[in-house]
Amino acid sequence: MQELLLLLLPIAAASGWLAARRSMRTDKGECVGEAGPVYFRGLNHLLNEEPDKAIDAFVEMLEVDSDTVETHLALGNLFRRRGEVERAIRIHQNLIARPALTREQRAQALLELGQDYMRAGLFDRAENLFRELKETKLHVRPALRNLLVIYEKERDWVSCLETADQLENLTGEKMSLQKSHYHCELAQAASAQGRAADAAAHLKRALLTERDCVRANHLQARIAADQGDHTTAIRMLRQTAEQDAGYLPEVLPEIVSNYRSLGDLQGLRTFLTETSGSHPGAGAELPLADLIRETEGEGAASEYLAEQLAASPSLALLLRSIEMNSRLPDSQSSQFVEGLRPHIRRLLDDKPTYQCVQCGFAAKTLHWQCPSCRSWSTLKRRSLIEAES
Ligand SMILES: [Zn+2]
Repeated sequence: MQELLLLLLPIAAASGWLAARRSMRTDKGECVGEAGPVYFRGLNHLLNEEPDKAIDAFVEMLEVDSDTVETHLALGNLFRRRGEVERAIRIHQNLIARPALTREQRAQALLELGQDYMRAGLFDRAENLFRELKETKLHVRPALRNLLVIYEKERDWVSCLETADQLENLTGEKMSLQKSHYHCELAQAASAQGRAADAAAHLKRALLTERDCVRANHLQARIAADQGDHTTAIRMLRQTAEQDAGYLPEVLPEIVSNYRSLGDLQGLRTFLTETSGSHPGAGAELPLADLIRETEGEGAASEYLAEQLAASPSLALLLRSIEMNSRLPDSQSSQFVEGLRPHIRRLLDDKPTYQCVQCGFAAKTLHWQCPSCRSWSTLKRRSLIEAES
């Protein structure tokens, strides 16, 4: 607050002086040496330690003319950056209401006001301003970028696609990753409404836009599984894991359930054994332990888990072996391990599993778009990030 007043005080004084000089010029002979009552009201508030009122008084006395438009813009910007959005909005609305602004000045003020509205969460108003800017052909790039943020928030994926195309044309910057996700969103919506053909068409376009779009492949596999084509589903799911090994833990449970739907336990065993060898810690160990228990009994499964725990210990493996141990007869340690279980489970629950590689945002579920920095496809399993670094 103090630094702001230090900035405002001389500007306000200068504005008062300008106003005074102008009135001296108009009323010849009459010497108007005063800075004006508003300035003194502001000073008075300042001396009475009422900085909020002082700021408003100084802002009020700044006349809008071609000399002070820049000052108003800078002030509004400063207020917004300090989180004083209401003040920023008042300044920018006041600017726009002036008919004397040039086309460029008005566009600049519209852009600033739009950003104020964004900051205040008034997305409808912001959208109208940015659309107006787009039509005036001034500041089109920032207008489109802001519109894209708004449409993403509104989950208006059709508008997102249009806007991304316009941005691509304007900047030459490729936005295929975002566009493939917009198509996937549309596909998911279509699929939820039972429009299977539309869903398939959007997934096709997602893959045309971004050839290695794992999300589109994953959704296609789900559609195949829903239609009872588990062989195709397995092939596609395994393909997504090959495209991006970081994605394996996401699709692994679905690969397992597709093998089970087929009744192909031998195929499942081969897949899980291979995967736990090539990607330890990706989640193949637990379903493999389950499978061993079903086919060879508790003892064999418990032995397998002990081996895995010795090789690469993890909380999930520990928990499962405790669970199996407690089912074994004559296990004297079962009471002891039983006592450990709630602590281990809490550790597992507390630990956020995903992290944005862009900004570090941590989450328990996979978000396609980072809620913090709004990048797409940047959330990865934390265990994999840790393993890489
Ligand atoms: Zn992020």
